[in-house]
Amino acid sequence: MTMHLPRSLREALAIVASGDVVPVAGGTDLLVRWPEKVELHDRELLDLSGIAELRVTARQPDHLRLGATATYWDFLTDATLRSEFPMLASAARQVGAVQIQSRGTWAGNVVNASPAADGVLALIACDASVEVQSLDAQRTIPLRDFYTGYRATQLRRGELVTAILVPREARVHEYLEKVGSRRAQTISKVGLAMCRVGDSWRVVVNAMAPTVRRCPSLERAMSSQAPRTVDEWLPMIHQDLTPIDDVRSTKDYREQVLARLLHAFTTQAQPT
Ligand SMILES: Cc1cc2nc3c(=O)[nH]c(=O)nc-3n(C[C@H](O)[C@H](O)[C@H](O)COP(=O)(O)OP(=O)(O)OC[C@H]3O[C@@H](n4cnc5c(N)ncnc54)[C@H](O)[C@@H]3O)c2cc1C
Repeated sequence: MTMHLPRSLREALAIVASGDVVPVAGGTDLLVRWPEKVELHDRELLDLSGIAELRVTARQPDHLRLGATATYWDFLTDATLRSEFPMLASAARQVGAVQIQSRGTWAGNVVNASPAADGVLALIACDASVEVQSLDAQRTIPLRDFYTGYRATQLRRGELVTAILVPREARVHEYLEKVGSRRAQTISKVGLAMCRVGDSWRVVVNAMAPTVRRCPSLERAMSSQAPRTVDEWLPMIHQDLTPIDDVRSTKDYREQVLARLLHAFTTQAQPT
């Protein structure tokens, strides 16, 4: 097995441009799925962890720039970030346990494209974008549009994700709830992230569709008149989402849980 260990982004992009390599950030998704990913076994690996410039998290005037190898733990150990982005902090705390939080990266969560991804859930609710770079071009893609289907993204051959950009905006009522088989160290059966910006709500759900996604019908309901009962949420859930039965849960359970989360949120007093 060949592992490239570039020291600069430019060097890494040149390696990506010249061959069909597999990037590795924390390796917490890639290596767990390695036995079943037989199509990758003959490919060379590109370790991104030695590129100092990719680890940097920077507060710009209008956005937060999370470098591609910034980990959840980097975020959680920064009190200012925790206080400015409580929903991201909540998601970071709920990804695995400390071992995973200290190796796993936001960008790895994004590119891995799991429908149950917790980082993606909060990042879409914060209207984040993905910064993508090749040797000769850079583009920025809204995360809500990044996924083209189940575990499929807009990332092209020759490109790396270089950062996640999170707007610094006046979000209120930030809320994130993850429902799994237990309180911690679990994969989401239903995840819900919401916030209000101005008069509009963003409502994002994971584990209930092939991709983590925003829910326009639920957003409209939140922004106008929210249903008063649990059952009244169900038709809107059906408009936005098509959950499946799988090893973690059933379609009906997922719909009922989401309806109850929305009902509980809208019938309890919200902090500003
Ligand atoms: C025990 C355990 C518990 C977990 N719990 C959770 C959980 O609760 N919630 C959750 O959402 N996830 C969970 N995960 C999954 C995983 O930890 C996260 O998705 C993590 O964020 C992945 O980041 P990584 O840096 O390890 O990615 P990697 O495994 O290094 O990479 C993931 C994918 O992204 C690609 N990639 C990585 N960086 C780049 C880049 N810069 N440019 C292009 N491609 C790139 C890789 O090639 C690979 O395809 C868990 C995993 C384990 C093993």
